[in-house]
Amino acid sequence: MAKAQQSAREHTRRLSEGCCPIHGTPMPQIGNDVIDGQHVYVVGCPRKDCDVQATETEPYGPATLRSEWVHLIQPTLVS
Ligand SMILES: [Zn+2]
Repeated sequence: MAKAQQSAREHTRRLSEGCCPIHGTPMPQIGNDVIDGQHVYVVGCPRKDCDVQATETEPYGPATLRSEWVHLIQPTLVS
């Protein structure tokens, strides 16, 4: 398996556990937002040198990266 593909899979697994895709650290809630009329929890990596943010529909549930960070788990789309 290609390295980029492997890490993309790892990133996806970490996100599905509500963890930072880069560091694997559980992401605490840092705010709230409403997307398409649905309340979501905004979570973020606790590391100072990392500002990855994601949203969850339930606390500690599967996280979805915010659009600014989607490229992290889709390396094949980066030119
Ligand atoms: Zn991080």
